[in-house]
Order: sequence, then C-alpha cells, then structure tokens
Amino acid sequence: MKPLIVQKYGGATLADPEKIKSVAARIAAQSKENSLIVVVSAMGKTTNSLIDLANQVSEHPQRREMDMLLTVGERISMSLMSMALNDLGCPAISFTGSQAGIFTDDSHVNAFIKDVKPIRVDESLHQEKVVILAGFQGVSPATKEITTLGRGGSDTSAVAMAASFKAERCEILKDVPAVFTADPHIVKTARPLRELNYDQMMEMTFWGAKVLHYRSVELAKVRDVTLYIGPASNKTSDGTLVKKGLNMFESCKALSLNSHEIVLNISCKEKNPAKALQNLQRLFDQKQIAFPQLLQCETNQSMTEILLTGPQEIMSAAKKEVQNHNEFSLQGAELSTVTLTCTGATSPEITQKVLSILSERQLATHKIMLSAMSLTVLVDAPLRKQVIESLHQLI
Ligand code: ASP
Ligand code: MG
Repeated sequence: MKPLIVQKYGGATLADPEKIKSVAARIAAQSKENSLIVVVSAMGKTTNSLIDLANQVSEHPQRREMDMLLTVGERISMSLMSMALNDLGCPAISFTGSQAGIFTDDSHVNAFIKDVKPIRVDESLHQEKVVILAGFQGVSPATKEITTLGRGGSDTSAVAMAASFKAERCEILKDVPAVFTADPHIVKTARPLRELNYDQMMEMTFWGAKVLHYRSVELAKVRDVTLYIGPASNKTSDGTLVKKGLNMFESCKALSLNSHEIVLNISCKEKNPAKALQNLQRLFDQKQIAFPQLLQCETNQSMTEILLTGPQEIMSAAKKEVQNHNEFSLQGAELSTVTLTCTGATSPEITQKVLSILSERQLATHKIMLSAMSLTVLVDAPLRKQVIESLHQLI
C-alpha cells in the first residue's frame, strides 16, 4: 500500500459546492502518491445554524438530540465530497463515525474517544479507495447512541485515525496557512510559526488558540502523531509542523498570544469549592448544558468564585441559567483571558515586561495566572484586542 496520510479539511474550506470540488481535485491529485483518509468538518457555518435551529424549537435541547442533529452537518460534507471525488474518477467512499468504528464514552455533546476499530476503513483502503470520514462524531458501545466530540472535534477524529493507522502524518488543512504568533485579524504584524512541540501547542490551545481542538494535540502527543497545519488551497506555503522535541537550549522567549473571548466569573454562596462545583454541574446537567472549561476555582470566607470559558453558545446558555438561580451570580462584566506562551519557562522578567506594558497603556488586569509555559492575564472583554496588540511587541 502507498504511504498513508490523514487529512482533515475545516468547514471554511468546504463552505460551498465550488470549494468542495476544488478540495476534491486536490485530494484526487494526492491520492496518486498516498493512501488517504480524509476527515471533513461541516460546511461553513452549518453547525452554528443547526444549533440556532435547535434553540428555536426548544428552550433546553436535550444533549442526545443535539448529537443526532449536529452529526448531520459532517454527514452532508462527507457524502458530497465522496460524490465529487467519484466524478473525478477517484474511487471514494464516505463513512460516519460509527461506521468507521470510532467508539466513545457514553456522554453526549462532549464525548471522549475510547477506542478505534476501523474495520471498514481498512477494507476500503485496501480496495484503493479514498476514505472520507465524518469528523467530530462516534458511537458509544455502551448505549449504542451517536455522540459528538465537542466543538472543533473533527481535529480529534483525524488524530485518532492517524494514531490507529500509524499514518505518516496528520494534516489539518484550513483557510489560514499556518499557526501564527497571534490572530492575524487582530495583529497585522503576526508571523507564522514554522515549528512547535506538543507542549507548546497544548498550552496554546488550552488557552484559546482555535487553530486546533485541544484534545487533538494531547492525543497526538500521547500517540506520537506528527501534526501539520497548513492551507487547503493548492498554493504552496510552509505551514506549521507540530512534533516531538525542539531545536533549542534553555531560553525563555515569548512565542505566541492567544485568548479566550468569553470568560464568566461565577460566584457561588457555597464556601466548600468541591460542593460549589458539584452544584453548578447539577444545574448545568438539569438544563442540558455541557460543563464549560474550568479555568480557576477560588474560595474566600464568604463564597466560591469559579472562572469558566467555552464556545459562545454554551457560555450564553450558562450565563442565563446562572443569572436565574439564586445560589449563583455573575461577578462583574464579561471577561477575557489573554495568554502569552513562552519557550522554556516563564521568567519574572517576562512577567514584569507584560505588566509594565499593560500599566503604561492603562489596561487594567483583574488577575494574573502563571504556569510553566505561560502567563495569563484576565481582563474586561472589551480590552481583549488592545491587550493582544500591545503585548505582541514582546514576540
Ligand atoms: N462542525 C463541528 C463544529 O463546528 C466540528 C468541527 O468542525 O470540528 O464545531
Ligand atoms: Mg465546524
């Protein structure tokens, strides 16, 4: 068999029939040299439109039914892509996550992949077909239910397939040509990063880099899958390689800026932090809301404060429920995090530089959080872009 590559095409690269046909032409050309498993996202903003639809018919759409609904998006892309490829004389077949043997736990809306038994994928590859796989979905062997992996989860489907087949590499192909030092829409002088290691990419995605699903990077690290992030167009560009190790000695250097746009600071009357979190989880479960990403939990004499972030739709649902419940309330306005990731470790020097730039520009921070590889400031959401722009001079 030819060397196997897993490719994942993001929703923006498949937004309309013309784009699907041009990606199909690219796949057909590459299939001459490689066996290909192609993971697709839903076309354009399809997933958001499906979520809107759900919210129009129900106040609290059940998570099981959300999974039934949202998996449709990727199913449209996969079948259209397979049709386009077959028309080009390139034999292809599409599979849903469950047909491809992606087994998850039994949770809905944010399921984890527990095993991959890709029997039909393997057979089709041996028949020299390009396999098109619907991203972001699987099936729970325990409940027999269809599940999804959380927003952006197609990247994780792709890495799981690459790990299972020990593919040469996993290519994440997008309408942006690489991973950048900061969002190029915010910072005009942002530069592409050519090489990153798994830890750096994990830190960046944990703190809001949207180029990749956080869990896909973690899985790639554990299973030693080389990741390449590059453009889906035929234009040549170097893209970004994410792999083991790094060509350096000890040094602390600012590397990239990322942010979570919406962070909620929820205060809870319960002083015991474990109980406070349990109560919040219970509230979200009742209202069919997936628990957002927990950033911090802090208690004082009178209450517990919980910092949460997540996709816009989850955060607005969470905000509404918290405001309506008398045990919880929202502290202050909407917040954002801005995180500077460094090579090596964060040094006091970098921290001082960050804080003096922010105070010179009179950009107030509520909190500073440090980890081995990054420094995060918590700011009012309207200041987010200014903070990113002014800190980019450190990179
Ligand atoms: N279509 C899903 C989403 O928009 C999954 C993905 O794109 O990876 O979140
Ligand atoms: Mg999508």
